[in-house]
Amino acid sequence: MKLHNFNSGPSILPQPVLEAASAAILNFNNTGLSLLEIGHRTNWFQEVLQEAIAHVKILMDLDDNYEVLFLHGGATTQFMQVPMNLLDEKATAAYCDHGVWGNKALKEAALFGNVQVVANSSNRQYRYIDKDFFIPPNAAYLHLTSNNTVEGTQWHQFPETTVPLVADMSSDIFSKPENYKRFSLIYAGAQKNMGAAGVNLVVVRKDMLGKVSRAIPTIMNYQKHIEAASLMNTPPVFAVYVSMLTLRWILAEGGLAEMGNRNKVKANLLYSTIDSLPIFEAPVAVEDRSEMNAVFFMKDTSREEQFLSYCKQEGMIGVKGYRTVGGIRVSMYNALPISSVVSFCELLQYYAQKNG
Ligand SMILES: *Cc1c(COP(=O)(O)O)cnc(C)c1O
Repeated sequence: MKLHNFNSGPSILPQPVLEAASAAILNFNNTGLSLLEIGHRTNWFQEVLQEAIAHVKILMDLDDNYEVLFLHGGATTQFMQVPMNLLDEKATAAYCDHGVWGNKALKEAALFGNVQVVANSSNRQYRYIDKDFFIPPNAAYLHLTSNNTVEGTQWHQFPETTVPLVADMSSDIFSKPENYKRFSLIYAGAQKNMGAAGVNLVVVRKDMLGKVSRAIPTIMNYQKHIEAASLMNTPPVFAVYVSMLTLRWILAEGGLAEMGNRNKVKANLLYSTIDSLPIFEAPVAVEDRSEMNAVFFMKDTSREEQFLSYCKQEGMIGVKGYRTVGGIRVSMYNALPISSVVSFCELLQYYAQKNG
């Protein structure tokens, strides 16, 4: 049976990426050695890292004000590393509380300085993006989550502000054309839309650094990583390689414009199918619906378990909602083919017809 992979993360990767990564484990670039047994300071790995960085610069259209780093840890490490590097003890950072991940980020930031929550949608179970807020002009930065993976909301137009923007883009990075240069710092765990687990992409404007007075442990210090060109210590070699292959794939497929077109087609198809079937409901505010993660429910929640086991039986993988949210979550990252969404929509229609 054909499996359709709607996992939220780690998640589907392009087939050519999986094939190239497998081959490199056995014989990397005809060296006769595995990618896993070469030194990270060899020219071989240098080329991998430099290619990955070059692809990021092209896709984000970055100028020399920015540095691109590949660092250890998931996005959760960045919840701490961002304020450690950017937020002085007596300074204030503005945070958006729009979901599980953003909420964790602001709690970590409060360990390092003052946090002002300027937008908050927890009153309606994070089912919309609160865009009506005031940002203190002296804030060190405004932190937002571009796509709320758990709740299924996404920023479709970022706020206008002179305060430096910092974004957790873990679940929608490189999913559509974006003015990345509006951001002073962007981070993303690779395992959703960019590669394998174990590495973070961090893109930072150099003028954001060197402004805090605290001592920063070396491994946490962005400036030191820049000086060491992401080779301060052994990087997660395999995860960087898979990211490089995925970035190469995005460019070969037509770049962010093409990703954006495909993702729009998939999301429109899925949401219009859900909206057409009265046994399902998608309670996220329509204008904030995520093109990456669609969250919806059965009106009769007592039937969800049976529906989810039917999905499993039909080869629809990873569609159970996040543990604190429940319901159904369908993740449609770049590598998910349109045909998988078509098959899932057919399943929804068939199920609704039989059980409506
Ligand atoms: C998954 C996710 C995280 C957590 O990532 P880890 O790599 O598990 O630390 C953080 N933020 C967002 C938006 C996510 O989707």
